[in-house]
Amino acid sequence: MSGVVVLQPGRERSVLNRHPWIFAGAIARVDGDPRDGAAVDVHASDGAWLARGTWSGHSQIRVRLWSWDPAEAIDAELIARRVRRALAGRRALLDDPQTTAYRLIFSEADSLPGVIADRYGDWIVVQLSTVGAALRAQALVEALVDQLQPRGIYERSDAEMRAREGLERVDRLLWGTLPDGPIEILEHGQRLLVDLTGGHKTGAYLDQRENRRRVAAYCRGAEVLSCFSYTGGFEIAAAVAGAARILAIDSSPEALAMAAENLRRNVITTPVEHVAGNVFNELRRLRAEGRSFDVIILDPPKFVHNRAQIERASRGYKDINLLAMQLLRPGGILATFSCSGLLSADLFQKIVWGAAVDAQRDVQILERLTQAPDHPVLLTFPESEYLKGLICRVW
Ligand code: SAH
Repeated sequence: MSGVVVLQPGRERSVLNRHPWIFAGAIARVDGDPRDGAAVDVHASDGAWLARGTWSGHSQIRVRLWSWDPAEAIDAELIARRVRRALAGRRALLDDPQTTAYRLIFSEADSLPGVIADRYGDWIVVQLSTVGAALRAQALVEALVDQLQPRGIYERSDAEMRAREGLERVDRLLWGTLPDGPIEILEHGQRLLVDLTGGHKTGAYLDQRENRRRVAAYCRGAEVLSCFSYTGGFEIAAAVAGAARILAIDSSPEALAMAAENLRRNVITTPVEHVAGNVFNELRRLRAEGRSFDVIILDPPKFVHNRAQIERASRGYKDINLLAMQLLRPGGILATFSCSGLLSADLFQKIVWGAAVDAQRDVQILERLTQAPDHPVLLTFPESEYLKGLICRVW
């Protein structure tokens, strides 16, 4: 072991509760001089062995815990075992020919801290967001190749998280070959183009897969407004479910061009209009024009990147939710989401409540939504729950 991290008195509780993070403030001293990413043992202040993790000297989260078993090394075999377990937990998806893109490994929630792996058809895109994970890329690639036989594995880094770990951002081919351009994946039988090297996140918003279906169930015969459309996943689901007409807004013309191509690929005849613009402004414009809709979807990007941004982000969420309520016909449906992990489900509901009060509309919660089950929430790591959504009826 390259080092031993000894905790402050009383700080062993969260480790005993199997929470995988150790913050700088919980550490009394470090015996040895661990290199970034090296395995370290964690001891209580009385010297008792607690857990094993990897050292991140640059991050406020100094240690990520990988194991609570003193006999278990953080080596290639452990990674292969954990990958096998993650795949076993997604058997139903792996066997479903109608859905070919989903998360294979969700970091701490799959007991592989810092490792995200998403399958897109024959390819896998990984994000390695901690130095402990980055150093073990080779073992991860070997396990994925051995267990899934992909055509290629591409690394797409999350620049924001890597910067906190003192890591450079990297986008590179780790194994095999890259596709020539965007590839087509299936989601519940619907075709979606995904740009593995240039798209958002690892290429698509896989966490919304089940929610697209839930929201679509309200769209038969409806006039739908889809805000923050990206490549149009919600619109395709809504059109297939029988929407009468759709207006989609996104600030990215490239994303909207791909959304239009996705509609063609699914042979959608529903009229869909794409508007490239800022949702905050476009909703005001629609209100000024006296427009109204039966269903409005709000799926904004992450507004909260650190605690200091919560208040400002709350105002942003309230603004778009209030505008959406004002644009809904009586009895219309608002499907509203937040993927900001630092904003709790309680606070999100309070924000939507505030919008309802200001809009002077009666708003009923019909369904509470969360991330798709291939993004599991580990009970001992509540931070793994980040996506929340409400389907509301607005009278
Ligand atoms: N609903 C999409 C995912 C949305 S991701 C899906 O199901 O796949 C968020 C999207 O919001 C991105 O495409 C980004 O380009 C867009 N975006 C970010 N800020 C915006 C703004 N102020 N106005 C309009 N679009 C915005």
